[in-house]
Amino acid sequence: MKVVIVAKTRQGSGSCVGGITFDGRSLRLIASDKNTNDQFNNEYSIGDVWDVDYRPDPDLVPPHVENIIVHNKRRLPSIDNVTRFIEQHMPPRDGGLDVLYEGLLQATKAGVQYVAERTGIPPYSTMFWRPDKPLVRDDDAKRIRYRYPNPKGGRTLTFVGYQEPLEQIPAGTLLRVSLAHWWRPREMPEGERRCYVQLSGWYTTNDERSWNPFENWDQPLDTGPDVVQLNQPQITSKLELSEALGILKRVFGYDHFRPLQAEIIDHILLKKDSLAIMPTGSGKSICFQIPALMFPGLTVVVSPLISLMQDQVEQLHELGVPAVFLNSTLSYNEYLQTTWRIKAGQVKLLYAAPESLLRPETLLMLEQCQVDCLTIDEAHCISQWGHDFRPEYRQLLDLRRRLPAAVCLAVTATATERVRQDIKSTLGVPDANEFVASFDRENLYLAAEPRTNGLAQTIAFLEAHRDQSGIIYCSTRQAVDRLAEKLSSRGWPVLPYHAGLETEVRQHNQRRFALEENIIVVATIAFGMGINKSNVRFVIHFNLPQDIESYYQQIGRAGRDGLQADCLFLFTAKDVQTINFFIRQQDPSQQPGATQRLQAILGYCETNLCRRRPLLNYFGEAYTAASCDMCDNCLTSIDEERLADITIPAQKFLSCVKRTGEIFGVNYIIDVLRGSRSQRILARRHDRLSTYNIGREFSKKGWQYLARQFIQQDLLFQDMNHGSLKLTPQSYAVFRGERVLGMLPEQRQAIISPSSKVSFDRALFDILREKRTQLAKKSNVPPYIIFSDRSLAEMAAYFPQSRSAFASIYGVGENKLAKYADEFLLIIQEYCREHNLQGKRRTLFAQPQPIADAGSRTEELAKAYNDGHSVAELAQDLGIKQRTVIDHLWKYHQSGEKLRSDGILELSKLASAEQARALKTFDTVGSEFLRPAFDALKGTISYDELHILRLYYVSHKPQELFSEDHK
Ligand code: ADP
Repeated sequence: MKVVIVAKTRQGSGSCVGGITFDGRSLRLIASDKNTNDQFNNEYSIGDVWDVDYRPDPDLVPPHVENIIVHNKRRLPSIDNVTRFIEQHMPPRDGGLDVLYEGLLQATKAGVQYVAERTGIPPYSTMFWRPDKPLVRDDDAKRIRYRYPNPKGGRTLTFVGYQEPLEQIPAGTLLRVSLAHWWRPREMPEGERRCYVQLSGWYTTNDERSWNPFENWDQPLDTGPDVVQLNQPQITSKLELSEALGILKRVFGYDHFRPLQAEIIDHILLKKDSLAIMPTGSGKSICFQIPALMFPGLTVVVSPLISLMQDQVEQLHELGVPAVFLNSTLSYNEYLQTTWRIKAGQVKLLYAAPESLLRPETLLMLEQCQVDCLTIDEAHCISQWGHDFRPEYRQLLDLRRRLPAAVCLAVTATATERVRQDIKSTLGVPDANEFVASFDRENLYLAAEPRTNGLAQTIAFLEAHRDQSGIIYCSTRQAVDRLAEKLSSRGWPVLPYHAGLETEVRQHNQRRFALEENIIVVATIAFGMGINKSNVRFVIHFNLPQDIESYYQQIGRAGRDGLQADCLFLFTAKDVQTINFFIRQQDPSQQPGATQRLQAILGYCETNLCRRRPLLNYFGEAYTAASCDMCDNCLTSIDEERLADITIPAQKFLSCVKRTGEIFGVNYIIDVLRGSRSQRILARRHDRLSTYNIGREFSKKGWQYLARQFIQQDLLFQDMNHGSLKLTPQSYAVFRGERVLGMLPEQRQAIISPSSKVSFDRALFDILREKRTQLAKKSNVPPYIIFSDRSLAEMAAYFPQSRSAFASIYGVGENKLAKYADEFLLIIQEYCREHNLQGKRRTLFAQPQPIADAGSRTEELAKAYNDGHSVAELAQDLGIKQRTVIDHLWKYHQSGEKLRSDGILELSKLASAEQARALKTFDTVGSEFLRPAFDALKGTISYDELHILRLYYVSHKPQELFSEDHK
């Protein structure tokens, strides 16, 4: 923020420096270190312009709302005429004493002026005044005072400024006056508290700079171009973006912008209305929080839920950002104090529900402030076509009209085309730029499997996620109660949540989920909005969700901190029947749409492709990478090197389906294959079939896994209404002997959990987590507000030993550094001493491997490669295999990006003739999959080599490929 220095007060305790911002707010600049302050801030001169980073003084009491604690500052070229600046930016009052402080002044017997608590407190303490009479120095008093003459002998103001006291200050001189701190005279212990009026300086055009003993007068006055820019803020967007990046690091502790953040911030700073559609957890808030810190005025954030706004404000306070909320939870006094702070320009972000904002007194207040940005969070609530329609949101147009200077940013995680149009027209911003981020949340591991024994499947999953927080969604209240009860009786820390519970119970459970580290909530979809917890490590769908949109929103609550989070989807044909039943209850006009949405989610369950394809497809986004490496399908079936011949099991299974009449589901077929003696099999005489008891080589689970692959490969069709299996034309090809490739059950990978991939020191992580819990309890905030899991994981991976190393950790900005570095460093250093560990440099890839968010990691790695780093260097720097680097580069290429072409071929150990042979093969059989090339080359070239050569192949222009060397 840019501040013009207008006053200095006398040396000693309580001394301060006064300034005015370019939007006309008065500030008192306090040094972050008290000693520096007491010894006076010599570096400031009147007329200086400083760019300051600051946090508000936490002990503000009206009318003293102007203090800011300066952390960092940078001197800019000064202005040449302070008087003119003050007149323009904080116009003075002309007249007698009665024009001061809304006429609230009182006088002691000795004539000293003050404002009394009982007669009302003005909302500010500093103002400018041109007295209509000369002020004469009063030498009788202990302190220097100036007397304003009146018939009763005069009223006095105490002089606290830094100038040489004049004998007389002529009438019409521009003066700066302020109220001193609250004070109760010793002789009146019961009396009211008072603020005495003090005079902190005067300005005459000639002498305004003469009161700075440190200024070099020989130098011409500097009226450099920066000042001109500041007065008409047309700073280039590039400059502002680099400032924004600085704030991202200093305040938030992050190294890079995530996709679209920079573009959106750029637009907002240029005051272009925008609509941002970004998935949950992608970092929408930064898009308005950073501009809010850069704009001179206020940013108003419309938020639908009290818990959401409180959470955000708490997080901002932790970062040292002056943010407040206005809602029904504030007491009257808190409300007054908050509005004072807003009016005094002490606040950068105001969060409020539409109802609060639309109240006449709030509208009036906002009209009197400078509102630079109006952000509508969860903007889909505006639209009746959205799923969370809120009628109050439709009145926001009124608010927008009353704040014409504010740029408008609407953000939401879900919006169809219709909703987008609705948002724009309701807010009156038809031309707003649209920013639609990829809906791919790369850190979410997606898996879906049939629910055969839901409880056992859930427990197996939870075992892999011990001590982690997560959500289990069920479709009905009864299902929630039942599952919560069963899990709880087995010792899992679960809490139920659904609309049938008492409000207090619900609130209590939600609060515990936020505040405690390892709570699992079993819930209906009633549990959702307002969950801002960043370390939700998993989401299980115990039942089929209604459609992909709601599914995506629900899993979106996991892994907001960018660390891996796991999503398991259990489904059965029974759920389909339930949803179908509900669809039939709907209005006939809505039924086809609902059925279509159901089919889409079934398609997602059933796909044998990368799960990101149908998911992103649903949101109109094409996913083109061959493999995401973060879903069960990619981790099981795309690994060509591990494909096995499963023709025989396929023939057994398909033939059993045929012989039982194509009317049974998976489990029945498996029972027949495995020779079950169950009544239903014996009664149908299925024990006499030739396929009875021919499949004991696989467990029931093993057959289920195989059956899924048969369905995925279209060898079987499953009727999702009844679950029955039917043969397809491809089934007959298998009977005729066509080969089936797939994964054998023993190759199946367990659901990956972050804990199974950790490379940070788990024991240290746990100790740090305990510390975090303690601190969180002390300040009554959720632990993730102090530090995210990812920050702790980085501490436990890099073992920072110094404050500067600590500052480089993810999520450590200046405020958290100042607040927590000492305590956390002590723990880390002690742990390292005990375990003989040393700090590691936080490398070019600012995160340890297992906790990186996958996509940004690929991008970072590929960019470093394109910048000239070799594959070997990258592998070493990241502690990963060369082959993994190649995989990342391939993925990067698959996403349509370019790779530099040198630096790959030298990795190959083959003779150039062999290389040429392989490259030519890609020409004929294609390069999307390696298996065809491997087969065409009759296995003479290993997969490792093929991976390298394929990368070389795709990163070259065709004409370069078969150069002389390779012929
Ligand atoms: P959304 O509102 O889109 O759901 P948030 O704004 O809450 O998401 O951001 C999710 C998490 O990502 C937060 O913890 C936030 O601090 C973090 N985050 C946002 N931007 C970045 C960034 N550029 N680098 C690292 N973390 C970020």
